[in-house]
Amino acid sequence: MNKIEHLGIAVKDLAASEQIFTDLLGEAPYKREEVESEKVITSFFSVGESKIELLQATGDESPIAKFIEKKGEGIHHIAFAVDDIQAEIERLTELGYSMIHDKPKEGADGKLIAFMHPKSSNRVLVELCADKPV
Ligand code: ZN
Repeated sequence: MNKIEHLGIAVKDLAASEQIFTDLLGEAPYKREEVESEKVITSFFSVGESKIELLQATGDESPIAKFIEKKGEGIHHIAFAVDDIQAEIERLTELGYSMIHDKPKEGADGKLIAFMHPKSSNRVLVELCADKPV
């Protein structure tokens, strides 16, 4: 794992939270992007080498809507940057960890992603994140 690529934060009102994080970080988000497969709209802020990803549900079936219903707003996942995401998925699977995605899928911000099941990792939802091959 190379670094913490980003922290994902589940929010109810993206515009209101963008204002809070703009005030906090002193900089506006650099992009907004909808990820239809995850039923979320995301907003990204740069923080040094890492990022903050705000996530708002686009429907009741969104994993973010379910998360907020159960736990309220707050930190949703931690994403680690990896070089070879398929190799990392296989490495963790061989070690006995349960992956939500056993193949990388397209995530926001031009990344390939895979989530590890939180039951495997102290209830922390872990995302592996790699640059898409050009
Ligand atoms: Zn993420």
